[in-house]
Amino acid sequence: MPRKIDLHWQILAALALGVGLGLWAGTESVLPGGVRPFDIFDFLGSTFLRALKMVIVPLIIGSIISGIAGVGAGRGLGRLFGKTFAWYITTSLLAILVGLFLVNLIQPGIVRQEPVGPRLGLTVSGTELQEQFGQRDSGDLVGIVQRMIPPNPVAAAADGQMLPLIFFCMLFGIAIAGLPEEKRIAQLGFWESLFAAMMRLTGWVIKATPIGAFGLIAKVTAASGFAAFAPLAKYGITVTAALAIHALITLPLLLRFVGGLSPVRQAQVMAPALMTAFSTRSSSATLPLTLDRVENGAKVSNRVTSFVLPLGATVNMDGTALYECVAALFIAQAYGVELGLGAQVVVVLTALLASIGAAGIPSAGLVMISIILDAVGLPLEGVGLILAIDPILDMGRTMVNIWSDSCGAVVVARSEGETEVLARDP
Ligand code: ASP
Repeated sequence: MPRKIDLHWQILAALALGVGLGLWAGTESVLPGGVRPFDIFDFLGSTFLRALKMVIVPLIIGSIISGIAGVGAGRGLGRLFGKTFAWYITTSLLAILVGLFLVNLIQPGIVRQEPVGPRLGLTVSGTELQEQFGQRDSGDLVGIVQRMIPPNPVAAAADGQMLPLIFFCMLFGIAIAGLPEEKRIAQLGFWESLFAAMMRLTGWVIKATPIGAFGLIAKVTAASGFAAFAPLAKYGITVTAALAIHALITLPLLLRFVGGLSPVRQAQVMAPALMTAFSTRSSSATLPLTLDRVENGAKVSNRVTSFVLPLGATVNMDGTALYECVAALFIAQAYGVELGLGAQVVVVLTALLASIGAAGIPSAGLVMISIILDAVGLPLEGVGLILAIDPILDMGRTMVNIWSDSCGAVVVARSEGETEVLARDP
């Protein structure tokens, strides 16, 4: 049997082919039989986007409820829970702020003083959107807490209102975690299998990524030629620089000053897991390695790892949180929309929630951007703009996600009085 080609190579090949065919076809050429290649590209790309949207609601329901409910009962759990969540939230917020700072500084969505949207084939005009913002900005900030509480969780799920849905699932998971053992196990079994089934189904959709990426990139290049790539390169550099600052400066500083631990030693211990994260682009797939390295390499107790890491693989995603923020602001810039302070705060909070809701699978973060676009009133079409470069950025952000989980585990373990942590050479 011929060896299977890895997905990232398939996507890379699909992108190259898409660029080539897009440039060759343009928007006007017609194949024998009267079919325009441009329409085929459009069909493939938008069908793929529909498939991604199809999985989002059940996937995040399963991901959040099973992740939180799986924690179980036990001694000192409340304290462990508190510390772990403090780490998750603090590091994710710090990551988002680095992203926010860089995307405002570099402005990847503006090239030569012009929003890049029109060059990338966006259809909704910035002025139309700006009008919408004028009305929504302050109201969004005030109303965000209220809008997080769904008066009807089933309706929220049916309508795809992500924020209230995530909020409800988190509460529901916490409620299950506190049930008597027998009832908790019964609930947990159901939600874990729902999640497993959705992961499988999502895996099928992800298999189609090369085709979807081909369609979207070919459509973009057909519509705008090489003009499409300069702005995407600037965007890619912005995301990568922000990820690097978070992984190489912020988290090491926290390790050193909060945990009193050596970042270099931690990096040596974690290297195999980090490389696995880079190549699989999935926090969940990397979890067995992360557990092994933190437990056997860094010598953290099973009590801490079994709590911090599985939950972290689903809810603690610093790289993804940062990415959500940069991507949403890039799309706003590309549309020529100035986001005011209120709207930027909405972006920060929704980026945090989106990263919590994202499953630990390839490109989950891409799916979640729709939440932020929805919250600030940008059209979903904007996702198509960044899809082409997403697999590459996914590698970096998944690595950062795992890095933050593992740093959290050693810091929490140390604060629980575990003196063996990173005490010996790896
Ligand atoms: N691939 C990421 C992960 O598994 C999630 C994302 O797409 O941002 O951690």
